[in-house]
Amino acid sequence: MAFKLPELPYKKDALEPYISARTFEFHYGKHHQAYVNNLNNLVIGTPFENATLETIVKESDGGIYNNGAQVWNHTFYFIQFLPEGCNEPKDELKKAIEKSFDSYVKFKDEFSKAAATLFGSGWAWLVKNEAGELEIVQTTNAGNPLRDGKKPLLTCDVWEHAYYLDKQNARPKYIEDFWKIIDWKVISKRFEE
Ligand code: MN
Repeated sequence: MAFKLPELPYKKDALEPYISARTFEFHYGKHHQAYVNNLNNLVIGTPFENATLETIVKESDGGIYNNGAQVWNHTFYFIQFLPEGCNEPKDELKKAIEKSFDSYVKFKDEFSKAAATLFGSGWAWLVKNEAGELEIVQTTNAGNPLRDGKKPLLTCDVWEHAYYLDKQNARPKYIEDFWKIIDWKVISKRFEE
């Protein structure tokens, strides 16, 4: 079973002006595709040849883990965007955010800080822990919270390839724009599953 680049419900320029078509072309078309290609080559002849991506993320190591987790993380990242404009968390997810962080505004500040202060390459995440509570976590490189028994709900890719063409070194500007294209309906669905 070969892994594939996911199909996305929007066009390459749909996230402009927040994420340009050029960044999207490189990030999705080159980086994400390269992780898919590497993974397909690396699993040949290993116990992971017919494994699901989630099993690879939870159980593999080395190059298979790095490329497999990057495929999972990028698919999760690109599918959470809504080109038509922003919305905000509602209903049960809104209540859970307010329970853990006081308010949506405070949650956004805390998440943005986690994304901005992550040293080097990695990901900032909103996760649901085993007790069902929300937490913000940082992972470095290809790291994925599934490894720690946490359910990812939202993620921000802070590898420089996610923003350098548009924002150069201004990671905080990329994070500010990130909030404008989140589809909270997708995040709610992940929370309720
Ligand atoms: Mn990336």
